[in-house]
Amino acid sequence: MTTRVRFAPSPTGPLHIGGLRTALFNYLFAKKNNGVFILRVEDTDQHRYVEGSEEYIQKALEWCHLVPDEGPVSGGDFGPYRQSERKQIYQKHIELLVERGKAYYAFDSNEALDQARKDADGQGNTFRYGASNRMNFRNSLTLEAEETKNLLGKEPFVIRLKVEPNKEVVAQDDIRGTIRVESNNIDDKILMKSDGMPTYHFANVVDDHLMQISCVIRGEEWLPSLPLHQLIYDAFGWETPQFMHLPLILKPKGKGKLSKRDGEKEGFPVFPLQWGEGLVGFKERGFLPEALINYLALLGWNPGNDQELFSLEALENTIDLSGVQKGGARFDFEKAKWINHQYLQNSTEQQLLETEEGSKLLDHFDTETAVKIIALIKDRLYLLEDLKTETQLFYQEPDYAHGVWDKLLQKQPLKILGQLDHIIADGLDGNALKEACFAWSKENEIPFGVLMQSFRIAIVGKLAGPDLLTICEILGKSVTLKRIEKAKLSIINLNL
Ligand code: GLU
Repeated sequence: MTTRVRFAPSPTGPLHIGGLRTALFNYLFAKKNNGVFILRVEDTDQHRYVEGSEEYIQKALEWCHLVPDEGPVSGGDFGPYRQSERKQIYQKHIELLVERGKAYYAFDSNEALDQARKDADGQGNTFRYGASNRMNFRNSLTLEAEETKNLLGKEPFVIRLKVEPNKEVVAQDDIRGTIRVESNNIDDKILMKSDGMPTYHFANVVDDHLMQISCVIRGEEWLPSLPLHQLIYDAFGWETPQFMHLPLILKPKGKGKLSKRDGEKEGFPVFPLQWGEGLVGFKERGFLPEALINYLALLGWNPGNDQELFSLEALENTIDLSGVQKGGARFDFEKAKWINHQYLQNSTEQQLLETEEGSKLLDHFDTETAVKIIALIKDRLYLLEDLKTETQLFYQEPDYAHGVWDKLLQKQPLKILGQLDHIIADGLDGNALKEACFAWSKENEIPFGVLMQSFRIAIVGKLAGPDLLTICEILGKSVTLKRIEKAKLSIINLNL
């Protein structure tokens, strides 16, 4: 049997990284088993539909190299892959269930249902439309057949699943084990809504069956729906697929699921790509897709050893879903950044130069110089956005912020910079420059470190940064001398 898995997002906004992780695990499961990875768009809820989100999902999957084998864009033999285009299929299938007595029409008004809910509340009970009370309502089980037929064209109605009472519903999840629920605790769920659209539960089961899905991999939030889905499979007499519910992605601190607000509060993205004006994604923050995928794979999966870096290809061969944990996986942005750092270190200078950020920032340097700059600062990069702060010193003169010379004023900075003028005028070869500085500092009994501090501030404007002599070599003699000149002036101005 061919392995067929699906990622089935609802286009209700941008794709959260939890959804992206679900897509990733589906993709990996398909690849590992030489199977098929399907994208199905679950867009039957008209009220929650958000324009642009389907395109966003498609783009995000492509950016992460998780391209579906079948789907609305890729096509395939089991389409259409948008549920809104499958209305007739659901219609045919719901009629089948009604004919077999597994589902029934219900004409109850909202008022009648509200009243019933209130009455149940008043008695301290939870309202549940089901075997114990369905005969008190207005539905095709209580009305004459003729009357039902008449009402169908005239009044709004829903179609409900007829849940058999006093049964144990047994469902199997490969991560959680066996799940058992009393059928008396499951209500006669609506399968078709009054707008003629199926509910998520119905469409989901029908499509998983018709698309020959062999394994359903989705987020843990759907685990409570599993017994109901089992009942729908049983009502049709269909075999259930394998199920795996992935653990939740938790907030970095405290209880609960990672949310958009956590990201906004703490300053990290929770979406792969930018959404609208305000919500910046992992891509825009300077993540490589390979790094994000690597990090997401580790959110809830453990390879069973210390290895932390996995390319997509390595994951395809390695991932074993028995390594998926039951408990929630805590989101850790610092860890995600660390993984991105590793991927940036493994990229060549040329590759980094070709990124959107690299080419934009360094386009006025010739390639050789740009490559040298990247080589010098590469190990300081955690995000591609760091390229901006790290390369700035090459195209922007330092502004000698207030107080930057304070600690050095007693250490003869003017004398040092005056001498550096001469040394640099003789040449910028790294070794010769270093030796000349060293010899002069010894002769004048000024510690080499102190000399370098004034030198660094003159060139960079602060005490930290990459190797100074290489910076000077890249800047060239005239820019270096100009900065020293400017630094001297700034010290003189301070002394006035
Ligand atoms: N449409 C559901 C969602 O967006 C899919 C759940 C499932 O995979 O069954 O989460």
